[in-house]
Amino acid sequence: MGKLQNRVAIVTGAGQGIGKAIALALAKEGAKVVVSDITDLIFDVAKEIEALGSEALPIKCDVTNPNDVNKMVKTTLEKFNRIDILVNNAGIYPFKPFIEMSEGEWDKVLNVNLKGVFNCTKAVVPKMVEQRYGKIINISSIAGAVVGFPQLAHYSASKAGIIGFTRALALELAPYGINVNAVAPGPIETPGTKILGKETLESFIKTIPLGRMGKPEDVANLVVFLASDDSSFITGQYIVCDGGYTLP
Ligand code: NAP
Repeated sequence: MGKLQNRVAIVTGAGQGIGKAIALALAKEGAKVVVSDITDLIFDVAKEIEALGSEALPIKCDVTNPNDVNKMVKTTLEKFNRIDILVNNAGIYPFKPFIEMSEGEWDKVLNVNLKGVFNCTKAVVPKMVEQRYGKIINISSIAGAVVGFPQLAHYSASKAGIIGFTRALALELAPYGINVNAVAPGPIETPGTKILGKETLESFIKTIPLGRMGKPEDVANLVVFLASDDSSFITGQYIVCDGGYTLP
C-alpha cells in the first residue's frame, strides 16, 4: 500500500520537468493523478502512470483560463468524485532585464505563475472544504522567496507572491482540515532550464554545496511528503530544496 492510496491529485504543468516527476511520484504512492498541462505531453505522462499500475486522467488546461480550470475540476469530480491534492506547479521563467521588460511580459508571468495558482486553488477549495480534507502544494522558487535573481523581477514577484498566498490561505483553510504549503526549489535540471545553456548551468553547479543540479525527483519527493499525512501538522510553510545553494 502506498502512502497516497486512493487519493486524487491534480498536478498542473505536468507534461514535463518537475510537474511530470511530481505526477509520477504521487502515482507511485497510489494516487489517482490528473495530469494537466497546455501541451500534448500529458498523454505520454498518463501512459507512464498507467504502466505503473495507477490511474491517470490527462486533461489539457491553461491555468490562466478560468473556463479551462473549472472544466478540469468538473471532469475530475465526474471521474473520481473527490480531490485530495492540488499541486500548483505550472510556471514560466522568461529571463528579461527589468529595463527592457514590457507591461505585457510582466502580466504574462504574473498571470501564469500567480493568477494561475489563484484560479486552480479557487476551483478546488469548495470540494476540499466539503470533504474536510485537502493538501495544497504550491511550487514557488528560491528566486523571490529567498534570494534575488537578475532578469527575473516578474518571476521573483510571482514566486514571492505565492509564499504570501500560501501563508494566508493556510490560516483560512486550517479549520477545514486543509494543509497549504509551498516548495521553493533551487536550480533543477528540466527541459525549461536546459535552454539556459551548458555554461550557465555549470556556473550554477559551482555554487551549489551539494555539487550538482537538482533533479525533478528531488522536488517530487518533497511534494509526496507534503501531500501525505506524514506532514499533517505542517501548514503555511515553504520548504527550500536547493542543495544548500542559498545557505549564507
Ligand atoms: P518546465 O520544464 O518549463 O515545465 C513547465 C510546464 O508547464 C511545461 O509543460 C509548460 O508548457 C507548462 N505550462 C506553461 N504555461 C502553462 C499554463 N499557462 N498552463 C498550464 N501549463 C503551463 O518547468 P520546470 O523547470 O519543470 O518548472 C516547474 C515549476 O517549478 C515552475 O513553477 C517553476 O517556476 C518552478 N521552479 C523551477 C525551477 C528549476 O530550476 N527548474 C526552480 C525553481 C522553481 P510549455 O513548455 O508549452 O510552456
